[in-house]
Amino acid sequence: MGVYGIDLGTTNSAIAAIDADGRPEVLIGLNGEPTVPSVVLFASARDHVVGEGARRQARLDPDHVCTLVKRRMGDAEWRFGAHGQLWSAPAVSSLILKSLAADAEFGGGEPVRRVVITVPAYFGDEERRATIQAGTYAGFEVAGVLSEPIAAALSYGFGRLDGGLEIGQGPARETVLVYDLGGGTFDATVIELADRRISVLAVEGDHQLGGADWDERLALHLSQRFCAANPDAEDPLDDSIGSQLLVLAAEQAKHELTTADSTEVVIAHDGARAVIPLTRDELEAMTASLLRRTLDLTRAVLNAAAQRGVRQVDRLLLVGGSSRMPMVSEGLLKEFGLIGELRDPDLSVARGAALYGEKLEMERLVAADLVTRGRLRDGAELFEADPQDLAAAVARVADSFGQPVSLVRRMLEIQVDTVVSRGFGVLALDPFDGLSASWLVHRNQTLPIKVRRSYGTVRADQDQIELTIVEQQGQAASTRPEDSKVLVEGRIRDIPPGYPEGSEVRVTFEMGFDGVLHVTAYHVDADLPLTLSVQTGATLSQADVERELEQLQRTRRRSS
Ligand code: AMP
Repeated sequence: MGVYGIDLGTTNSAIAAIDADGRPEVLIGLNGEPTVPSVVLFASARDHVVGEGARRQARLDPDHVCTLVKRRMGDAEWRFGAHGQLWSAPAVSSLILKSLAADAEFGGGEPVRRVVITVPAYFGDEERRATIQAGTYAGFEVAGVLSEPIAAALSYGFGRLDGGLEIGQGPARETVLVYDLGGGTFDATVIELADRRISVLAVEGDHQLGGADWDERLALHLSQRFCAANPDAEDPLDDSIGSQLLVLAAEQAKHELTTADSTEVVIAHDGARAVIPLTRDELEAMTASLLRRTLDLTRAVLNAAAQRGVRQVDRLLLVGGSSRMPMVSEGLLKEFGLIGELRDPDLSVARGAALYGEKLEMERLVAADLVTRGRLRDGAELFEADPQDLAAAVARVADSFGQPVSLVRRMLEIQVDTVVSRGFGVLALDPFDGLSASWLVHRNQTLPIKVRRSYGTVRADQDQIELTIVEQQGQAASTRPEDSKVLVEGRIRDIPPGYPEGSEVRVTFEMGFDGVLHVTAYHVDADLPLTLSVQTGATLSQADVERELEQLQRTRRRSS
């Protein structure tokens, strides 16, 4: 059974799988389109609509339509309220995931069970956890969360040699800058492709910056022009239906200005009407500061990569629907002298996720084959197997899938290295500064990471230690607690009695390739693992999860 790759996007989502020829293929949904709008309409307390139907309904019933939910991922406090029910960001997202799965199955695919879901590279620990939670709510086993630029690079690497995955073989070592401007998030990533290795060297980004900000600026401009032409009419922005319509009109005009130099927008509101001419130059002028921010972040990522030895960028990949705007490639060319390549900006991420899912699946099957035959210890890594045993297992797995042995072997050989998107540390009492952040891990350090810190108890028989783990928010790591976000506020509990002041508790902070943080604690003298109980964390409480699961079971998906 295959692993599906899902691009859970801010504005649009897509699901992909590996086809019979071993190529990643985006599955066409019920609406006949490869992407589905990431929009949910809560039609009543018992049913909902996902996708185009929900997006259209946004005009008539804006209070029950949830859009841009990805921007809320990782905000444990946020809820969307509709028909007396509250929905967290993972719960809303799970409805989008389920709808994608239903579409994939409708299209003749196998039932969706295991998935890889992509996230912006810049997502920190809590947004990644929220994404996993969304997958769990949808009833999936989340085989991995993968950074979107890595997915795009995988898809690009696959496409370089038709029919096979060709990642920087031999002399074709390449440094690629991935500029990903989607509907609501922006990521800039420097990736090296070499020796079947994809290595992320540096990431930068802002997950509150995307095409929706362009729409907002334009909507504001349109409302001003409408009000100037109709001084007695109400401002469309003062009314929820009016402002939804205005934003949709703005987005439509923005799309038109990608190919045309000028267009006209017709706004009808409050019994009045205005025909507003608009040029691409005007759009570019009013959104110049947004583009500037992406260019500044791109410069920052190039500087970070330079510190890791990158002298030049060989290729610029443009990903995300908003990078279609001509101002993007023009800005990048002017600023960095790089010519951008737009390759399926909407679909490459889902395709890359499916490729990565396939890689994980092949690894799992080859390992299971070896373990069953007693040729590999359960839990051991594949590279620990005898090369001949490995080759035989690869051949068997390829045979059972009807795929070329070379493809399975290449899949296994691909290595993905990535970095921490945001530094993290602990809040500690500093004798001079009061409470201050002490950083354990810095942004752009290579994953996986394991850091150990020892803490001494401050009195005899102390039975617990408070621990606050924070994540970097701004571009630079600051020691001021207000500049960082609390990831975990917890207590290491059940320290056994009878130990003096200063006895050692060793805390291990581990972050795997998926960017999710795991914390464990250990009492050295007692030789005892300790439990960390979390009071406040970025994730939802158990009670919330149970309530939402019930709520999710009660709601039915309507086709429109
Ligand atoms: P994504 O999240 O990657 O699907 O990107 C969606 C964003 O891309 C939305 O903000 C769209 O308005 C924007 N977008 C899609 N097509 C175009 C286009 N032709 N011109 C400008 N923006 C576009």
